[in-house]
Amino acid sequence: MKIFFSSLLTLMLVVSATAQDKEHGYWQQKVDYKMEVDMDVKSFQLSGKQELKYTNNSPDELDKVFYHLFFNAFQPGSEMDVRSRTIEDPDGRVGDRISKLSPTEIGYTMPTSLTQDGKKVKFEVIGTVLKVELNEPIKPGKSTTFKMDWTGQVPVQVRRSGRNNAEGVALSMTQWYPKLAEYDDEGWHADPYIAREFYGVWGDFDVTIKIDDAYTIGGTGYLQNPNEIGHGYTQKGVKPMKSKNGKHTWHFVAPNVHDFTWVADPNYVHDTFDGPNGVKLHFFYKNKPEIAENWKNLQPITAKLMEYYNQNIGEYPYKQYSVIQGGDGGMEYAMSTLITGERKFGSLVGVTAHEMAHTWFQFLLATNESKHEWMDEGFTSYISDEAMNVVMDEKKPNPQAGNYRGYISLAKSGKEQPQTTHADRYASNRAYGISAYSKGAVMMSQLGYIIGEENLKKTIKRYFDEWSFKHPKPMDFIRVAERVSVFELDWYLMDWTQTTNTIDYAIKDVSSEGNKTMVTLERIGLMGMPIDLDVTYEDGSQEQFYIPLRMQYASKPNPYPNQKRTELKDWPWAFPTYELEISNGKKVKSMVIDASQHMADIDRDNNSYGIEE
Ligand SMILES: [Zn+2]
Repeated sequence: MKIFFSSLLTLMLVVSATAQDKEHGYWQQKVDYKMEVDMDVKSFQLSGKQELKYTNNSPDELDKVFYHLFFNAFQPGSEMDVRSRTIEDPDGRVGDRISKLSPTEIGYTMPTSLTQDGKKVKFEVIGTVLKVELNEPIKPGKSTTFKMDWTGQVPVQVRRSGRNNAEGVALSMTQWYPKLAEYDDEGWHADPYIAREFYGVWGDFDVTIKIDDAYTIGGTGYLQNPNEIGHGYTQKGVKPMKSKNGKHTWHFVAPNVHDFTWVADPNYVHDTFDGPNGVKLHFFYKNKPEIAENWKNLQPITAKLMEYYNQNIGEYPYKQYSVIQGGDGGMEYAMSTLITGERKFGSLVGVTAHEMAHTWFQFLLATNESKHEWMDEGFTSYISDEAMNVVMDEKKPNPQAGNYRGYISLAKSGKEQPQTTHADRYASNRAYGISAYSKGAVMMSQLGYIIGEENLKKTIKRYFDEWSFKHPKPMDFIRVAERVSVFELDWYLMDWTQTTNTIDYAIKDVSSEGNKTMVTLERIGLMGMPIDLDVTYEDGSQEQFYIPLRMQYASKPNPYPNQKRTELKDWPWAFPTYELEISNGKKVKSMVIDASQHMADIDRDNNSYGIEE
């Protein structure tokens, strides 16, 4: 009996491993959506019915739940409106535009009825959030069903979602439905929608959309009735059915995602292209001759980009991905992206590369991007810059150089805030942008400097293996890096992401006596780092001296296996200076700290000796 029970238990653990890693104390909520919406393309209003099965995998009893009602942000006087006007460097796309929306132009999502397991529940709309007091608390391990009717109006496109964007795309339907807020081991995340970014509950979506039959829809999910619909989805030789009363009913399912987006326009070209591993790539773009060539040329490159991410992060797990002209720049969604399409070719590819990379860093590795924006934007920027260098053959010696420059300029400006700042609560859009994107990318790139490139590559893949379809946090990422590299890295996570401490090392003094050269290095910045010191001798030969930071308790593998490297004793962080002696009989011509420039030293002027500028 004992054996039987334990093997049964093992089986159960394996089956539920993705959502419930109870062995390690990890759990996550689950929600399954069934939605039916009827869209009026003339008034931009919609009516919706939503049935939501919510499973409480937490150890807590829940007596309330929260939903996001994102469209409510697009109303004069909303938090998004006021913040967009009062921040020191307003986003040009938003500015004061929300304050000028008329009642027929605003957005709203308005629940009209809500039940829990068939009984009415009390709810309250608080700006962009719906607060629901439950009749029956949801016990740990139990499920409950919410049914909601709602009406909505699609706002004039200001930011991300909306009607009639700048390039004339009719409906960019992102954040368009009442979306359950996430509850995790830190509690509820019912963030108001002020400017940016999301966090959602994993689950399965079943969505039907009734819309004027002239419109083509693209977005999250697999179309279940392609032969009925047509619009580029029909199998070869199949003639689509005639619509009823001028409307088609589109039926989509999307398994294991945490968002559902769709875009509709009566004037889309819809192309498909075979991506890696049988993934079907879909492209939706306006039928305008001046953009057609770029959008055709984008298709094989999108396939190559996906291949790059598959190989360098982990396999794309769905059967479909769509690049859709819509929105207001570039924004990632489940199984799709919305980008503006009237761009130069390089920019079209660059944005696609970035947004598609978000499929891995946010959609699959679903961090709370309001709290840990650098794990979302930063890791995405890192990997898409690497991908562009390879796929577009850019031949940049350091594809991350721009990210280092951006970070260093912010660090020296005195306007930097720690990366632990909530994405909405930076003093300026610039401070947010550089911190999330550039400093976030440097976080990854510089980790390669510390633990070595090979260890970094392994870390990224193992991070994906262990944390895709979950909600990883900063500690989860760094623990993977520690396990892969056997380095202690808590100091790196802490100083880099939780403080504004900066890195500044210098060659303080060099003197020689006979054939001996004495060097004094200095740590000027508060943040400690291991040091690669590259020395060139008078005879033209080179040698690298490696000085581990004491508190990392490990050594980086030699980054240049064809070149001599000498590992020196470690440098305890608290010591401001470090002495080394080169006594191999060779005369030193020049030396430089971090020749690779992968350490984010904010003052490189003091990093070298004997090199004429
Ligand atoms: Zn991004």
